[in-house]
Amino acid sequence: MSIPFIDLKAQYARIEQTIQDNIKKVLDHGQYVMGAEIKELEEKLAEYCGTKYAVACASGTDALTMSLLALGIGRGDAVFTSAFTFFATGETIAMIGATPIFVDVDPRTMNMDCEKLQEAIDKVKAEGKLKATAIMPVDIFGMPCDYDAMMPIAEAEGLKVIEDAAQAFGADFKGKRCCSYGEIGCTSFFPAKPLGCYGDGGMCFTDDEKLYELLLSVRVHGQGKDKYENVRFGVTGRMDTMQAAILLPKFDLFPEELEKRNEIAAYYNERLGVSEEMAVPFIPEGLKSCWAQYTLIAKDEATQEKLVKALQDASIPVARYYPLPLHMQKAFDYLEYKPEDLPVTYELSKTVFSLPMHPYLTKEMQDTICDTLLNA
Ligand SMILES: *Cc1c(COP(=O)(O)O)cnc(C)c1O
Repeated sequence: MSIPFIDLKAQYARIEQTIQDNIKKVLDHGQYVMGAEIKELEEKLAEYCGTKYAVACASGTDALTMSLLALGIGRGDAVFTSAFTFFATGETIAMIGATPIFVDVDPRTMNMDCEKLQEAIDKVKAEGKLKATAIMPVDIFGMPCDYDAMMPIAEAEGLKVIEDAAQAFGADFKGKRCCSYGEIGCTSFFPAKPLGCYGDGGMCFTDDEKLYELLLSVRVHGQGKDKYENVRFGVTGRMDTMQAAILLPKFDLFPEELEKRNEIAAYYNERLGVSEEMAVPFIPEGLKSCWAQYTLIAKDEATQEKLVKALQDASIPVARYYPLPLHMQKAFDYLEYKPEDLPVTYELSKTVFSLPMHPYLTKEMQDTICDTLLNA
């Protein structure tokens, strides 16, 4: 039995005809850029996330960059974020000229620790070199951050919030969906994300009409009243019409797939929760992950190595997110962090590992994976 880490072929088999029809429609109408499918997708997804506006774009990275630009963030600004994330989170902050301030995470949720966030804000203010401007929380592996703790801090300190929900489309924090937190929420439709297209894609979500208009402008080179007037700097951030045509039928399957992901996670939790060698994902009361990853925390580095090797020996795909947190990445050397500056993040980088997770995983496959781990 071969177990895929994610199974996009099983999903494609269910919607093959619709996908092909939709692609043909785009080829026939010829609006490869900003065709009608873009608006349709934006409206559907904004409604799903509970925001007034959505702006489709070329990637999750562009969604973050466009949000930073729309909010006027740049040189001299401090943006507080997590180091336990994909590189793009910190990269976009640095690329637009601002300074990422990496905050340590909670050892159970692996999301930003809000007590440490407050400490980091106080430190930046006391030093007086940078202006504390924004927070970029990351809903890691599809689990929402603690917004009950974070949003009051943002409000009290006058900080903007750009939610990096690249992994969290469909996740839910106490009845309010991810992508809807802060001034702008951002997601990614990279094929491996819970809702993925067949290439690169992303989206920004907001309730603020002014920000919506700014996002439309920065999506196309800071466009003014027409193509040939440019009033600010932006990016080439449009989503291809073809990707929107692919996402529409995939979005129809999404609610059912999300249910399946939750059932699969619950079964992993049930079977692996008994082990003392690893901790299963912690699910805070009232929160719903969309399970972009199912990530276990081994009790120490040696145990992680042993468990990962057992899976590899059984030809079961396994991933390690993230062996090099952002504060340890070469590109961020100039910020002069030491690995131990973020002790929880550093420890997690050596103990986490992720199992196959997708809606088409069978109980038989899950049993093989769990037996392998429990017998290791
Ligand atoms: C995937 C991802 C991104 C970037 O999305 P792309 O569509 O690949 O550009 C940003 N942040 C996080 C947390 C991600 O997982």
